[in-house]
Amino acid sequence: MHADDGSRPDLSTVPDAVFRLDSEGRITYVNAAAELLLERRTEELLGRRARDCFPTAVNSIAEERYRQVIEDGRAREFEYLYEPQDRWYEVRVFADPPGISVFFRDVDNRHRAQAEREAEVRRLTSVLEALPSATVLVDADQRILTGNRAWASTLALPARAIGVPGSDYLAAVGTGLAPSDSAAIATGIRRLLDAPDGTVPAPFDHEYPRSTPTTTGWFRLQASRVELSRRVVVTHTDITERVRSEQALAWRARHDELTGLPNRSTLLDLTAAALAAGTDEGGAGAALLVLDLDGFQTINDSLGHGIGDQLLRQVGHRLAATLRPGDAVGRLGSDQFVVLAHECDGAEAAALAFRLQGTFTRPFPASGISVPLSASVGVAVAQPGARDPHQLLSDADAAMFAAKSMGRDRVRLFTPGLREAARWRLEVATRLRDEAIDQLVVHYQPVVRLDTGAVEGVEALVRWQHPERGLLPPDTFLSVAEETGQIIPITRWLLRETSRRAAEWAAQGLPLSMSVNVSARHFSAETLVRDVRLALRDSGLAPDRLVLELTETSIAEDPTRAEDQLTVLRSSGVRVAIDDFGTGWSSLAQLFALPIGTLKIDRSLLVAAERVTGGEGGAVLAAIVALTRTLGIRSVAEGVETVEHLRMVRRAGCDLVQGWLLGHPMPGEDIPAWVRQVEEAGGDLCALAVAGTPVHAAR
Ligand code: C2E
Ligand code: CA
Ligand code: CA
Repeated sequence: MHADDGSRPDLSTVPDAVFRLDSEGRITYVNAAAELLLERRTEELLGRRARDCFPTAVNSIAEERYRQVIEDGRAREFEYLYEPQDRWYEVRVFADPPGISVFFRDVDNRHRAQAEREAEVRRLTSVLEALPSATVLVDADQRILTGNRAWASTLALPARAIGVPGSDYLAAVGTGLAPSDSAAIATGIRRLLDAPDGTVPAPFDHEYPRSTPTTTGWFRLQASRVELSRRVVVTHTDITERVRSEQALAWRARHDELTGLPNRSTLLDLTAAALAAGTDEGGAGAALLVLDLDGFQTINDSLGHGIGDQLLRQVGHRLAATLRPGDAVGRLGSDQFVVLAHECDGAEAAALAFRLQGTFTRPFPASGISVPLSASVGVAVAQPGARDPHQLLSDADAAMFAAKSMGRDRVRLFTPGLREAARWRLEVATRLRDEAIDQLVVHYQPVVRLDTGAVEGVEALVRWQHPERGLLPPDTFLSVAEETGQIIPITRWLLRETSRRAAEWAAQGLPLSMSVNVSARHFSAETLVRDVRLALRDSGLAPDRLVLELTETSIAEDPTRAEDQLTVLRSSGVRVAIDDFGTGWSSLAQLFALPIGTLKIDRSLLVAAERVTGGEGGAVLAAIVALTRTLGIRSVAEGVETVEHLRMVRRAGCDLVQGWLLGHPMPGEDIPAWVRQVEEAGGDLCALAVAGTPVHAAR
């Protein structure tokens, strides 16, 4: 019945083997299958006690079970290793009064495969345990076979038995995930499991956020098919830190670090979206408002960048709080902000601009002090069909520059003419940097004593000999030079050029004073004192021949800093004049506290005085002049164009005059001849002017 070499054919497919025992344990029946499996013939077994036939089974678990079934009549089922064969059987025992029926079959292969699998799982588990990431082994039914400790702890599994061996993997991993991530993971795992045996599918990789009631963490899931089996190993690595730092980086790329507001490129993106939406819906377009804080550079320089930063943050907060929901404010850099308003026509945009300005009426507290701020606002409203956010921004920018040039705290709406102005500013900025210093020329306007009519000196006024546009007046390019900082090298050059000129004239017997205009930027740069000293040293000009003209607004921006530098200059003999008096708001007391020798009264005061009839206008002028007199300050009347002007300023008691009536600005080469002409005509320029015989430059 069986092979004599000891090996057996595979008997796992044999139908159930059966034998029966009576209550005494005697074998009463054996079927053919049992004969085969037990390797005994029926005649050897029938009528004999089972324990005599199978001595190895004595006191075994099998014998124990048989006895129990005989005793209580309840069926039993168990697996049993039959030692003589070293094979596993599955055994079912039923009561069959008076004895029992025993059904059994060879499950050795299955049992050993199972044991093998379990051993493998145990082995894998110990490997998994060594992995730092939460790792599970998933079977073909997507059930968890085993998971390491990190898996249990990282996932902070809920009390329900998901995530434990035997439970559904997708349900376990899916808790706290977005449906799209769950679906992606299900598909990825399915693909690995469904790959035909013998192939090695590419690993599946997916990153996803997972939320618990308290936090959101980020994970990277990597799944690969275990070779030669339909199982998948899945690791879940916590990448929260990496993702957070990536997110922080991305955030920084889109925002201004200091204020936390969107930055320029973000604002441009938002604007592009608003323009596209406006065009598609045909409603009112978007508007951009560029705000530039007035004189912020000076605040930064004088109060320090720490306070400057605090102020900028507060400005950002206040602006943000003023906006309608959906509108946005960003920072363009330094002291510039930009507001995007959706569906906004010109009138609404202007109203918004004034509302934004209104946020500056209260001063800004910073480190225990209270700083008043104001902003110049440029407004550009998108034309129907406009799509280019850069254009809109540069329009708003141009309008802002126009607002700035009108003074502080102004609002200006964009007009197409400003686009030309913006283009010009750009050209000036590049040219001034590269070549234009060589193209600058200086013209000199006489400054005349009112009492004798003698020429006391000249004021240097810069012009740009533009290769294509001809001779350009200073207001076409100096404001750009102020912005770009080029004004400093320009003035440095000018100081040398004019000192040299004045020294040359003095050597020719023409001792004229030389007035040079200095910008506020030069105070901030703190190089003024040195630049002046060098110019004087190199030219040999007597310091008291040099007059520095400063506008009252430039001094008002930072009086302390101005005072320090002016005091140093003054002590070296250089003289200082306040220019354009009457156009700013500075207090006279503050001005007169400075070491100034001359006050230049702006032409606008003259014009205003002229309009007031009955001589009362002249009274204002006279009051100012009287005040300067008592302080030992000399006064210059600027912009004297007519004989009537001349009479008025003489009545007011001015010391000096300057204006077209007496002499236009002229090239330096012309000055000596012109002065000689004046002297030849008697030397009293005022008298000559009143007599209607002005002296023209003799070239
Ligand atoms: P400012 O310092 O007030 O110079 C006087 C301006 O008045 C000059 O204009 C001069 O040409 C003009 N002017 C002279 N007499 C009369 C007159 O009778 N009637 C009228 N209506 N105007 C008269 P300009 O040369 O165009 O200069 C304009 C401004 O540019 C100057 O005003 C000054 O603020 C600035 N500027 C000129 N040169 C320089 C410079 O080298 N450095 C700096 N920082 N600013 C300068
Ligand atoms: Ca001047
Ligand atoms: Ca002036």
